[in-house]
Amino acid sequence: MTATPCMFCRIAAGEAPANIVYTDAEVIAFHDIMPQAPTHILVVPIRHIGSAAELDDDDQDLAGRLILIAARVAAQAGLSAGYRLVINNGRQAGQTVGHLHVHLLGGRPMRWPPG
Ligand code: AMP
Ligand code: ZN
Repeated sequence: MTATPCMFCRIAAGEAPANIVYTDAEVIAFHDIMPQAPTHILVVPIRHIGSAAELDDDDQDLAGRLILIAARVAAQAGLSAGYRLVINNGRQAGQTVGHLHVHLLGGRPMRWPPG
């Protein structure tokens, strides 16, 4: 069997380590290894989808579920003062991992517009 090169697929498959805070049949959430805020969690579909741009009509429920789970994880993390959800899509937006993920950032004031 050829090992998948996708790090987030490897984490979802239990083949690479992560600090997992939530998982179900479709979604996994784990702490970012280079946190940009006191709380920085990634909410990730278990099935490989390269980016938001690769979502199609069949992914509508899953796309919504990513936000729902992000909100639940935020509540669980005690982010009642607020939090930000971010999806970087493509190189110019700063996407560095080619597996769709929602950043959940909280625990500090957020500036607007984001850089
Ligand atoms: P993006 O730049 O939007 O593609 O975000 C990718 C995020 O994944 C970055 O914040 C990285 O710090 C994070 N990251 C990369 N590899 C890992 C890993 N093995 N475990 C947890 N987070 C990771
Ligand atoms: Zn993947």
